[in-house]
Amino acid sequence: MPAVDVAGEFETIQRLFAPLAHPEWGRGLADDVAVVPSRAGHDLVLTKDAIVEGVHFLPTDPLDTVARKLMRVNLSDLAAKGAEPFGYLLACHWSPRCGWPERTSFCDGLRLDQKTFGVALLGGDTVVTPGPAGFSMTMLGWIPKGRTVSRAGARVGDLVFVTGAIGDGWLGLEAVQDRLSLDAERVAALSDHYRTPTPRVAFALPVRDMASAAIDVSDGLIADLGHLAGASGVRIEIDLELVPLSAAGHAWCDDRVDEQAALERLVTGGDDYEIAFTAPARDEAALRREAERRHLRLTRIGRVTAGEGVAARFGGQPVAFDRTGYTHG
Ligand code: ADP
Ligand code: MG
Repeated sequence: MPAVDVAGEFETIQRLFAPLAHPEWGRGLADDVAVVPSRAGHDLVLTKDAIVEGVHFLPTDPLDTVARKLMRVNLSDLAAKGAEPFGYLLACHWSPRCGWPERTSFCDGLRLDQKTFGVALLGGDTVVTPGPAGFSMTMLGWIPKGRTVSRAGARVGDLVFVTGAIGDGWLGLEAVQDRLSLDAERVAALSDHYRTPTPRVAFALPVRDMASAAIDVSDGLIADLGHLAGASGVRIEIDLELVPLSAAGHAWCDDRVDEQAALERLVTGGDDYEIAFTAPARDEAALRREAERRHLRLTRIGRVTAGEGVAARFGGQPVAFDRTGYTHG
């Protein structure tokens, strides 16, 4: 038995989604498909993420921020590959709590970030469910033919970099659950980071032009560097002291007795949506210039050597992470 759609599928599509549609390719969301003309000399790069209430966002999260986070986690994947996003497909599984005001809020979030990141809605599907709400998005982007940056290109001798700061994703989750004893301003900044992380779309071009391998940090820095090392068949060595933290991250670490344990927590938490990448040492100066031009923090945290896995050091000593699944040190 299909659940009853209180706000109306047709009305939702025509009144809320159609105004967000790509002016030409979306066909006003009044056809069965969108049609995107192929772009000469380019590859189409696609990614998809699904989020479910109670798993990836909290039942109390406002839906405009849920929509923006969904868009941003997708944009983060494309940015890490060097691709330029242009549009997206969207599936909404509305739950009973998603009436007209909630759906309007969801679309307000989409509209805001469409403008920020230069993407438009191409189509999707709308269903209702008696269970928790869920949303999924497919993001599409272009990249010049053959230039997609994979996880597999890291070479022995390359340097390892990360954009922005690490740890605010995990701290943000603590913040929205009221588990941090930092001052109110820091808690608010971390909560904002959790709800609307900043995908590094602005750094996609330098990554495309100079990175040998790249990944966006969603599972946690150590785990994601492990994915890079595995795909590239190399070992990645990093110094935990070099991992960049935000002011809030520093404040949180300063409150802990065991600094190493605090850092370990931050580099194994997820949801940072920074780009971790490797690049030849000769490109370091150019990468730094590109980051500076964009007012983006860029930090060298380690290097690529022969072997496998991720080796982290603190105070010159190997660090053995106690979380299963990774071999370090
Ligand atoms: P179908 O009958 O094939 O399921 P729909 O009636 O669901 O088609 O969709 C009609 C149009 O509305 C299509 O262009 C579809 O892409 C668009 N659409 C439906 N749901 C959404 C959504 N959540 N976001 C964007 N476009 C949507
Ligand atoms: Mg149809």
